[in-house]
Amino acid sequence: MKIITLGTGHGDATVSNASSATLIECGGKYYLIDCADGTEQRLLQAGVEPASISAVFLTHTHLDHSAGLPNLLKRFIKFKHYGRLPEAEMKCYLPDMRAAQIIKDWIKLNFFWEYLQFFDIANGFSDGTLSLRAFPNRHLGENGKSYSYKVSAGGKTVFFTGDLSDDFSDFDLAEANHCDIVISEMTHFPVDKALDLLKDLKCGKLVFNHIGDPYQNIAAQEKVLQQLSGLPCPVQFAFDGMSFEI
Ligand SMILES: [Zn+2]
Ligand SMILES: [Zn+2]
Repeated sequence: MKIITLGTGHGDATVSNASSATLIECGGKYYLIDCADGTEQRLLQAGVEPASISAVFLTHTHLDHSAGLPNLLKRFIKFKHYGRLPEAEMKCYLPDMRAAQIIKDWIKLNFFWEYLQFFDIANGFSDGTLSLRAFPNRHLGENGKSYSYKVSAGGKTVFFTGDLSDDFSDFDLAEANHCDIVISEMTHFPVDKALDLLKDLKCGKLVFNHIGDPYQNIAAQEKVLQQLSGLPCPVQFAFDGMSFEI
């Protein structure tokens, strides 16, 4: 399984960090977790045809995770319909099915929409190459649904936190434990709050993603890595375009 962090920023893109999108390549297929605006171009820069994505999984509907989806779907419909990629079959897994009609309506204002397929990610996903299970977190409180994801493929397991609550208490330690990689957001909580849970995290590597402004510089990142130097696993910050194989 190959992972590329296409966008590692938080709510507002900055010069150094685009908003959230992570590509997974596995068994010759491509999957996307979150799809901020600019994802189409970032996929091209990574050498991947955006219309060829097999499935898109949104962790929640905040726009820094979802605004690129209508455009990605437009490209998929266009490439499929006009024969540039007739076998393309992009499926969308949504955290909140109310979003399906909204996206459809938006695309209908621009284009036709008959190839679109939307599913509720609460039911999980499996296509024989990759499987994904969704675990609710409290990032949106009463206002909507938000998930952490556990992805399994080729005997490897990755845990993505998605966005969490502001006290890190919904970091699902039991599910994250023993994964090969844990990719955690790094915006909504103070590091010392996280340390209470992370000190018990047993995984192959912890990677920080969705990096808030205060941590988008090497000095701040080194300070955090120093704070977390006692953790039982290696820790690193992701950057846009970072690629790793597990
Ligand atoms: Zn976010
Ligand atoms: Zn959010």
